[in-house]
Amino acid sequence: MFLFLTYIRLTMASGPTVLMRLVASAYSVAQKAGAIVRRVIAEGDLGVVEKTCATDLQTKADRLAQMSICSSLARKFPKLTIIGEEDLPSEEVDQELIEDGQWEEILRQPCPSQYSAIKEEDLVVWVDPLDGTKEYTEGLLDNVTVLIGIAYEGKAIAGVINQPYYNYQNNGKRTLREHGSEAKAGPDAQLGRTIWGVLGLGAFGFQLKEAPAGKHIITTTRSHSNKLVTDCVTAMNPDDVLRVGGAGNKIIQLIEGKASAYIFASPGCKKWDTCAPEVILHAVGGKLTDVHGNTLQYNKEVKHMNSAGVLAALRNHDYYARRVPESVKKALVP
Ligand code: AMP
Ligand code: MG
Ligand code: MG
Repeated sequence: MFLFLTYIRLTMASGPTVLMRLVASAYSVAQKAGAIVRRVIAEGDLGVVEKTCATDLQTKADRLAQMSICSSLARKFPKLTIIGEEDLPSEEVDQELIEDGQWEEILRQPCPSQYSAIKEEDLVVWVDPLDGTKEYTEGLLDNVTVLIGIAYEGKAIAGVINQPYYNYQNNGKRTLREHGSEAKAGPDAQLGRTIWGVLGLGAFGFQLKEAPAGKHIITTTRSHSNKLVTDCVTAMNPDDVLRVGGAGNKIIQLIEGKASAYIFASPGCKKWDTCAPEVILHAVGGKLTDVHGNTLQYNKEVKHMNSAGVLAALRNHDYYARRVPESVKKALVP
């Protein structure tokens, strides 16, 4: 009891830890990025650029959101390593893009003791400013997320997912112009949400739900499919297959009971796609690995590509891992 009270007193005296301050900032910064993602659509000029191919796109929203996230975090935490998806020229960022806030509710949460002594320079932040860009350009707005993942000693330990168009009512609109000026939530609902989590503390901002027991509902890529991807999905003996955009979006499907496993047997997905979603899934007892069942590493020197694909489930990860065909494993070298 005495030790516990001393611990509480010490924690309160020194204020929130670096990790909790960073998560509180990442929450506010991800909200700002989500607002930027919505604003670009409303303004109507997406400024689409092809990166490696026609399904690998970058828009003005990807660029502005990354500038906002990386500059805001770097100003407050100058010793962090921040790795963002987009390759952007280093230039002075408009003050209007800077978010200085820290989500108060997170600052009040206790830091798991194993992370209380972490220093700023020990943390690596993986940023996907807009996950699901292909779908964003096609008006599938609820597929889009903003991902900020935090890693320590190579392990994903904290993360924030903002879903800018959560509660968004499609109402059958298909064109971006139709979406733009009227992108709003349904009655009594707020547009957009932010999910956050820290290993050892939990994940918040959503209602945890398991997929129907005994059913294998597989969620996979919509715009980056190939034979390996479909072979692997078929080998799972699925009751249903959902093809949606975004790694963040697919992990949200797992934690909200819409899918039982996320399977992507192909390279293409990167560390910034998986870092934050992995934390949210792990914080509620799920598991994300490559198709071999290996855990992913997030230290700053690691290669960005998840070359051996992604296999994630809230429950029964082993069931899915056992069914990955040898031919798929052979083709996907970690
Ligand atoms: P998807 O499930 O297709 O939405 O992909 C999840 C994430 O991985 C997104 O950020 C995609 O951009 C990325 N990704 C997957 N496959 C590829 C690929 N072949 N080329 C570029 N990015 C990819
Ligand atoms: Mg992405
Ligand atoms: Mg992206």
